[in-house]
Amino acid sequence: MGRILIKNGTVITMDPRRRIIRDGAVAIENDRILDVGKADALKDFQAETVFDAKDRVVMPGLVDAHCHNVQMLARGLGDEVDLIAWCYDRIYPYETLLSDEATYLSALLCQVEMIRTGSTTVTDPGGYKMDNVGRALAETGMRGIIAWSGMDQWSDDRPLCEGLPGKLNTEETLKVEEQLVKDWNGREGGRIRACYGLRVEPNVSDALYRGINNLAKRDGVMIEMHAAVNKDQVEWVKKRTGHTVIEHMKSLGVLGDHWYLIHMAAITDEEVKMLKDNDCRVIHVPGATLHGAYGSASAGKFPELIDMGVTVALGCDSSAANNSLDMFRAMYEAATVHKEARIIPDLISPEQALEMATIGGARAAHWENEIGSLEKGKKADVIIVETKRSNWVPLHEFSLVPTLVYSGEGADVETSIIDGRVVMEKRKIKTVNVKTILRRAQRATEKLVKKLPYKLEPKWPFE
Ligand SMILES: [Zn+2]
Repeated sequence: MGRILIKNGTVITMDPRRRIIRDGAVAIENDRILDVGKADALKDFQAETVFDAKDRVVMPGLVDAHCHNVQMLARGLGDEVDLIAWCYDRIYPYETLLSDEATYLSALLCQVEMIRTGSTTVTDPGGYKMDNVGRALAETGMRGIIAWSGMDQWSDDRPLCEGLPGKLNTEETLKVEEQLVKDWNGREGGRIRACYGLRVEPNVSDALYRGINNLAKRDGVMIEMHAAVNKDQVEWVKKRTGHTVIEHMKSLGVLGDHWYLIHMAAITDEEVKMLKDNDCRVIHVPGATLHGAYGSASAGKFPELIDMGVTVALGCDSSAANNSLDMFRAMYEAATVHKEARIIPDLISPEQALEMATIGGARAAHWENEIGSLEKGKKADVIIVETKRSNWVPLHEFSLVPTLVYSGEGADVETSIIDGRVVMEKRKIKTVNVKTILRRAQRATEKLVKKLPYKLEPKWPFE
């Protein structure tokens, strides 16, 4: 904390005019940005900490709009299976076995990986034992939103394993979610928020949709939900309600700008319009659709959503459903997969991908008055990205943003400031001991994997 000056960098502001400042500077006092401008104009700013950003890009920290902190220890457990098997056979049994300690280590490891690759904010759709995720956020210094992944119904074709902490009735679910919001929303000087969450349509009754909707509106927070993840899920909803997912939510009278809808691979043109009319937020997770074959790229309506002006943000999902948490890679995917699917080379631009990963993520979470761009008065969430590297050179002004999106990578991020605190400097995370976390996370996972009801084998022989 205190006063920080970042000078001599190329500052990508992401302000409403999308200004990029040559020889730019960012002045920070405590948790806020005091000024953004030419380094010359800010040279008299007295600071305890000065970063010389020559040959570097200075930009807003990335907003990972969808990442499950609790699934970090499930890396390798969700590959080459369809969505149903992924959830019900692989990941729910894993989540059932998570202890408080394992959840906490999972969250620490997840945040280390996000900070290392330039994310400064994470919107987590939840899991269970989420107090441990909140604790980890408090320690790593990352900004985040946490939720409980609510579910109150299950069926024979979607069986929930015994002991999964989310397996509760409607009333109990409403109660635990209400408590989490009460306990965590606004903690750490506002750096940590909490909101409501629903897991996925087949596990959500109409009573839960309505109940959560009422609580979210009362508390002025949003509701995160995995929605229309693939065609099968939509078919399931259609068979039981006669409606597609967004139509069904409309018929319940719950749609609004507090809905934060994740994946959305299988929606109709009419639903695109409903999302626009109700100002719902849509989260694109290109890495998960590429890994799990959801259909977001081949059949999704993301170009249409963006064209219509719907708020679209970008997420990485989890180390078991992507499996990379590198938002640079997510930007690359968002800017490329739709072009390929429709054979249109200028469909989603790198500039639009960068918008989704910064101001889009902030707007989706109703946090754009404080984060998502470098502007006077906003929270100081800033990353410094090294550009004198072989994946950036040669660099031109016309190719700056395309280079960042098409060949930049999380490993280029050198420094990360979150809420005015230097959380990573020269690629070293300062808030937690990474080595210890890696060691403890590996050990905790080996113990947990032994207890899983399934066993995975390597495809090639180990000697
Ligand atoms: Zn998810």
